[in-house]
Amino acid sequence: MKSMLQKTIRAIFQLIYPKLCFACSKYPVLQDCSICISCQYKITPTNYHQLADNPVLERFWGRVELQHASSSFEFIKGGLLQNLIHHLKYENRPEVGVELGKMHGSRLVKTEPYNSVDFIIPVPLHAHRKHKRGYNQAAMFAEGLSISMRKTWTGSHLIRTENTQTQTQKSRIGRFENVEKAFEVVSPERLRNKHLLLVDDVITTGATLEACAIKLLEVEGVKVSVVAIALAG
Ligand SMILES: [Zn+2]
Repeated sequence: MKSMLQKTIRAIFQLIYPKLCFACSKYPVLQDCSICISCQYKITPTNYHQLADNPVLERFWGRVELQHASSSFEFIKGGLLQNLIHHLKYENRPEVGVELGKMHGSRLVKTEPYNSVDFIIPVPLHAHRKHKRGYNQAAMFAEGLSISMRKTWTGSHLIRTENTQTQTQKSRIGRFENVEKAFEVVSPERLRNKHLLLVDDVITTGATLEACAIKLLEVEGVKVSVVAIALAG
């Protein structure tokens, strides 16, 4: 009875103050959604996951051996996706990451080698930063992917042990040296011979993903693929 009343109150509230799409800030969305139908069509998939050669793979050439690497959506400065990523990272909107993951996962799971993934692993945040934001944005994307791919995601096998300095002022080499020793694998025996999908929000230099992949590849028989929401820079 109480929940019925709560639902009614929420519905009335929604009529008076509709929740607006986090991408365009124009159209109302349902309570459980964050992206309006119009924006869902306008946010363009890269389809990099279907290409044997793509700009994300190129970024990792000669650095680390990956099964495949791709980003989900076209990133345009000042565009709809940038608004969404801003909400995900700075406006306490973890559901944006889940929704983008759900949108992309249904496409990803139809393509090799992503269809053979055993576990989805988000790039970890250091505990201090996670505490500050309240959640790990890469884990939210991983959660959305896991729902539509029907694969398990786990945030407990790859952890961040060092809180590295902020990355923005550093060169690619400087960034890699900065993060190289920041990660650790927990219970590696459970990852043995598994195909892992390493997930992040935005790829800039790729240094963080590279350091994580190198760490995971130290486990016997592990294969690593990479996917991010977007490629920037
Ligand atoms: Zn919209």
